[in-house]
Amino acid sequence: MQGLMQDRPLLISSLIEHANAFHPGAEIVSRTVEGPIHRCTYADIRRRAKQVANALTALGVRAGERIGTLAWNGFRHMELYFGVSGMGAVLHTINPRLFPEQIAYIVDHADDQYLFFDLTFAPLIARLAPQLKGVKGFVAMTDRAHMPAIDVPNLVCYEELVGEHTDDFDWPMLDENAASSLCYTSGTTGNPKGVLYSHRSTVLHSFAVCAADGIALSARDSALLVVPMFHVNAWGTPYAGAMSGAKLVMPGPNLDGKSVYELMRDERVTVALGVPTVWLMLFGHVEANSLDPRRELTLQRVVIGGSAAPRTMCEHFESRFGAFALHAWGMTETSPIGTVCNLLPKHVGLPLAGRLDVQKKQGRPLFGVELRITDDDGRRLPHDGVAFGHLMVRGPWIAASYFKSEGGDLLDADGFFDTGDVATIDPDGYMQITDRSKDVIKSGGEWISSIDIENAAIGHPAVGEAAVIGVAHEKWQERPLLVVVRKPGQDVSREELLHFLEGKVAKWWLPDDVQFVTELPHTATGKLQKIRLREMFRDYRLPAAAA
Ligand code: AMP
Repeated sequence: MQGLMQDRPLLISSLIEHANAFHPGAEIVSRTVEGPIHRCTYADIRRRAKQVANALTALGVRAGERIGTLAWNGFRHMELYFGVSGMGAVLHTINPRLFPEQIAYIVDHADDQYLFFDLTFAPLIARLAPQLKGVKGFVAMTDRAHMPAIDVPNLVCYEELVGEHTDDFDWPMLDENAASSLCYTSGTTGNPKGVLYSHRSTVLHSFAVCAADGIALSARDSALLVVPMFHVNAWGTPYAGAMSGAKLVMPGPNLDGKSVYELMRDERVTVALGVPTVWLMLFGHVEANSLDPRRELTLQRVVIGGSAAPRTMCEHFESRFGAFALHAWGMTETSPIGTVCNLLPKHVGLPLAGRLDVQKKQGRPLFGVELRITDDDGRRLPHDGVAFGHLMVRGPWIAASYFKSEGGDLLDADGFFDTGDVATIDPDGYMQITDRSKDVIKSGGEWISSIDIENAAIGHPAVGEAAVIGVAHEKWQERPLLVVVRKPGQDVSREELLHFLEGKVAKWWLPDDVQFVTELPHTATGKLQKIRLREMFRDYRLPAAAA
């Protein structure tokens, strides 16, 4: 027997319609590439998204065609989020930090019809345009007065394009499983692969972001999106913002500590989202200027993801900012939110140290996400918080295959996707990432978690950044090597660091050596690039093994 409820498709256009109906005056505040702070509302975004939809229709763009963006977080990007997907085309956000050759590959692979870009990327567009034969036009996201002087065919001014069209546009009633946006993984090995989201997956993911044990985004929030709209849709927050009516604060190109702090203060930010690196820059600014965030800011929670949030970072937010550190895990293939580290009743009232033992984990799955860990042969491992295995995930906002079937079949016989992460899951369901499977250190047949050692090392006041890689060892196959960047003006020796780590990680996990470098290699999404690091230390020999 069928239920007798209405069958309304879950569409991105319905999110902006809801925001317009019930939160028309909630603000979108953007620091622009041109300089000034720009303020508008959800009602403005909806109006101009409809103008975008009319403009694209006039340009001949049809449902399902891809529209590329190379842009920071800002109101025009938000208009494209709703205008492009709302009319049935596919918004392809491109990470400008990828190598130009990779960008050219992605634009070509995605078959982007038009490319919208922020002024910062005008030189990149000028350089790439001759290669981008399939792109029909390049739209500079600015007004006539700021148009870049670059020589590319079919250069269009965004404000003129939008201004030529009315906001009289009826969103089409699309199939909710129709493609809505496209984001390529950073592709540390091989070419980047496209993850193609649908209207349905995006709307369901938004519910999860707004859920109380998700990120609890609400109309009472002022949310600072430091996490970029060019990578995994800024963790889905532009959509969840429209769903909840939260005020959104967009930092544009300025992600330095000072700019982020000022936006937090001036826009009365209650929740901020970003990767650990940006928070380190924020801490640096606060320390260097002896600021008092507890007094000056209204920050209640900080969502940290993209790479592991060290325990010390969670503690610092709590003690210096009075903000709860909400650790989250996900990936491009998971839209991206998979787990969020909220507390259970038994943790409430724990002393801070006990609470941080929980908060440093990547968290529990939101409804809709199923997790399991398996060994190398695909056998399920216990959720005892000790066994680590391949993290497998299943759910309605998890990728089923890559765009144009690159990489073949993605799912196992049970429909689970292998994340490439290695994790433990404890009896309460808290998942903790110990490594990428490519990066695990195998010592005497057992796995050592490089992330645990890194997070312990970062707790030393002189350590700016830390990475642990496995290096060959005659007896144990591999042993951990700790590579450290000291904080500017600080000193710490190998012996001091090894002594500091004692008792913080299992004894047999203690690194065999420490090497100091001035910089660590990072990927386009700011993650440690361990492949590159291992290459850098290819000829390195551990002291004991060398002897
Ligand atoms: P991306 O697809 O570029 O967003 O990268 C996803 C990968 O980032 C995941 O598979 C993890 O390896 C890593 N990652 C994301 N969030 C976390 C986290 N909270 N802790 C540790 N690693 C994370």
